[in-house]
Amino acid sequence: IYSVRNVSRRYGELAALDDVSLEIRRGDWVSIVGPSGSGKSTLMNILGCMDSPTEGIVLLEGERLDKMGEPELATVRRQKIGLVFQQFHLVQHLTAVENVMLAQYYHSIPDEKEAMAALDRVGMADRATHLPRELSGGEQQRVCVARALINHPDVILADEPTGNLDEVNERIVIDFFHTLHDAGTTLIVVTHDAEVAAQGGRQIILEHGRIAREAADVASTPTKGRGVGEGGAR
Ligand code: ATP
Ligand code: MG
Repeated sequence: IYSVRNVSRRYGELAALDDVSLEIRRGDWVSIVGPSGSGKSTLMNILGCMDSPTEGIVLLEGERLDKMGEPELATVRRQKIGLVFQQFHLVQHLTAVENVMLAQYYHSIPDEKEAMAALDRVGMADRATHLPRELSGGEQQRVCVARALINHPDVILADEPTGNLDEVNERIVIDFFHTLHDAGTTLIVVTHDAEVAAQGGRQIILEHGRIAREAADVASTPTKGRGVGEGGAR
């Protein structure tokens, strides 16, 4: 679904990404791990159509993202990609359910019932009419998950999706990701959490803007393997 070829992203002297090549197939669940500053978010921003490489080629379903300007990138972002990012980017003057409906609006016709159902899946139905500032960090994050999933995007990009969550809510998000993956969604997840990283079938380890190595994790075959008691590959 993605083809990344010799991509670099430079900020002056610094190469946040340095000649990265990567193929991601439809239905893959890829975890991206690596130390702070290794380029994980930079890569996610490029895959998520929020930044462009300074060198190299990025294809999404055969389309050249690296050649697109902002209006085109915005269209791809809304139509194909669900983003769950560290910075929440909820619209501050809209309630939780309105934020989810806003995402629907870009895709089809907003449907409050569907938006409420998505919030319910992340345990946020009773907070639907709250503004972001009236929600905790973890609650805002779960609204972002509901918003990212509402349009059934081809790809979910998640940057530390469980970073602010307690164990119970982490489980909710992971289970939701499994449901999506089982339905054929491609997942690309940046995480510092080994348990979350082990949910995916592939782990890509970034160091200093380069792919240091890639590990296949036997714990997760496409449909089975909820991480617990599955061959103990951790
Ligand atoms: P973390 O785990 O802390 O989130 P990361 O792997 O996501 O780290 P990136 O955010 O991709 O790291 O940053 C990679 C490098 O690029 C860092 O050295 C960072 O300081 C630098 N960088 C990122 N964005 C910019 C920017 N807009 N201008 C200059 N340098 C940047
Ligand atoms: Mg980051």
